[in-house]
Amino acid sequence: MSPNQMKDQKQINTSPFEIAQKQCDSCAEFLNLDPNIHAIIRVPKREIHVSIPVRMDNGAIKIFQGFRVVHNDVLGPAKGGIRFHPDETIDTVRALATWMTWKSSLLNLPLGGAKGGVICNPKELSMGELERLSRGYISSLWQFVGPEVDVPAPDVYTNPQIMAWMMDEYSKLAGKNQFGVITGKPLLLGGSLGRNDATARGGLYVLREAAKVCSLELNGASLAVQGFGNVGYHVASLASSLFGCKITAVSDSKGGIYKKEGLDPRSIHEHKLKTGSVINYPGSEAISNEELLGLDVDVICPCALENIITEKNAPRIKAAIVAEFANGPTTPGADDILYQKGVHLLPDFLCNAGGVTVSYFEMVQNFSMYYWDEKEVHERLDKKITAAYHSVLNTSKEYKINMRQAAYAVSVKRVADAIKLRGWA
Ligand code: GLU
Repeated sequence: MSPNQMKDQKQINTSPFEIAQKQCDSCAEFLNLDPNIHAIIRVPKREIHVSIPVRMDNGAIKIFQGFRVVHNDVLGPAKGGIRFHPDETIDTVRALATWMTWKSSLLNLPLGGAKGGVICNPKELSMGELERLSRGYISSLWQFVGPEVDVPAPDVYTNPQIMAWMMDEYSKLAGKNQFGVITGKPLLLGGSLGRNDATARGGLYVLREAAKVCSLELNGASLAVQGFGNVGYHVASLASSLFGCKITAVSDSKGGIYKKEGLDPRSIHEHKLKTGSVINYPGSEAISNEELLGLDVDVICPCALENIITEKNAPRIKAAIVAEFANGPTTPGADDILYQKGVHLLPDFLCNAGGVTVSYFEMVQNFSMYYWDEKEVHERLDKKITAAYHSVLNTSKEYKINMRQAAYAVSVKRVADAIKLRGWA
């Protein structure tokens, strides 16, 4: 193989969109899907590229590249977050938009799938620059979003304040308040109670069900969190407060920490706020992200980015359950290895669907102008995500396929049936 071919091979293996298409293709084969429907769902419906001019604090204009991809909206308005990341690529955004379609469908939400991204490093921007970039993103593509069209939300390195600026910008352009254009907003501006920790909480409801199936007692069970960001922090703190799990390791992009007796998530969070990382946390042992994956723990929770569990490290995983709170953390080759090892995998678009589910509740509350209490949000989330877990589990048992394939089978079938009913194919 020439160096160029090797480079191509590498790109194919790690391209999230290639992976998303591969997963879609094998599901289409399994479902014996109409080739016309398969052709529709393996590509995004719409893709927008924008160049956003932003006035920087030094007076100069800097151009940022942004994307918004709608993968499919057959079931309802497209839905999905916006990422601000220096390594953002259109390929990743396409994949994430595709996974949002499967996520919404799996949870039986009347929504499609979309994702947005801006290539930028928010850590290097002042508040003013961040606000102008957020507003610039919306004004560059506002005709293509809207409460009944495509509804963005927070994702990696975006937050409720950014959602508030974006909602405000859209409302100004539309000439009226349009709270429903975006979710994950601050409470005062049409946000929903329970949205902040919804991704973590939803996945933990799934973990609770999975633990029963695996006969794992969660009280005292050991858990390792790879990626101690917003989601990772809530996973660690809720797993210990709701179920009494012991958080034995956590990591971030700079490295990881380990303590056999268990770590206190809140105190690590404070340490990270002060120092910028979980590393050097007093009383803990330093470990690498790779070492964390191989720890002798009951549950591993990848909570950060794509392609973390690979063919290389999957054989070393000792956990009984891998709960994918991140999007796309496991490569297809690693999937097969985990299945053969008997690891109970909670696939991403099931395990992290709590965020979009409560976003959907936020949309419902915005449309009706009536706001629910937190208990109602938690109960409704529990009901929806628990039902989704059991439909995936039953499908996996019935057809003897792994949990990811089963999740695909349930959600792709729903989208395919809707395409047929609407007469698109
Ligand atoms: N960004 C989250 C996700 O990937 C939430 C999306 C949403 O709330 O629309 O699921």
